[in-house]
Amino acid sequence: MLYFLTLNKLPEVDEQKRPKFAYGRLIHENCERRAHFDAGRFAIDFGDDGHRKGWCLYKLGCKGPETYANCPAVLFGDVGPGAWPVGTGAPCFGCTEKGIGFTKGIHQLAELKTVTPPVTFPKIVEEKGTGMTVAAAAVAAGVLGAALGAGAVAMRSMGAESEGESEAPK
Ligand code: SF4
Repeated sequence: MLYFLTLNKLPEVDEQKRPKFAYGRLIHENCERRAHFDAGRFAIDFGDDGHRKGWCLYKLGCKGPETYANCPAVLFGDVGPGAWPVGTGAPCFGCTEKGIGFTKGIHQLAELKTVTPPVTFPKIVEEKGTGMTVAAAAVAAGVLGAALGAGAVAMRSMGAESEGESEAPK
């Protein structure tokens, strides 16, 4: 109503008829914890070190990456001015998004709709180690063999030097 009264036109809407000025961006795009997501710093448990430091809540089930709303911009919340759920340490549960809020598991990982962190950053979901590949084992064996060989040569030459030193001058 305010938009219409102020600008004398209806707002642009998305495919679900939501005004784009409020639902045009993902929560994840404007979130104050986003730098931690990009750097791979995640809270793993409520109350752990990362949670206390204000790290990203993705691994606790935050649905910000798949929820369109302006909560981080207007600091939406019922706990008073200057606070919103993610800001207080509670993962977004996607209440504005059809098929997410009240539907998806509360701690289920969100789908990353727009971005994935660069490959140089730690992975969102760590894979279990599968052991060394044959090629990696061959390289490691080669490096180890070369190191042992160099050590043996060094030991021999040190031995020869000390034998020479121990001979009495004639
Ligand atoms: S996953 Fe959630 S807490 Fe992390 S940056 Fe995105 S919106 Fe913020």
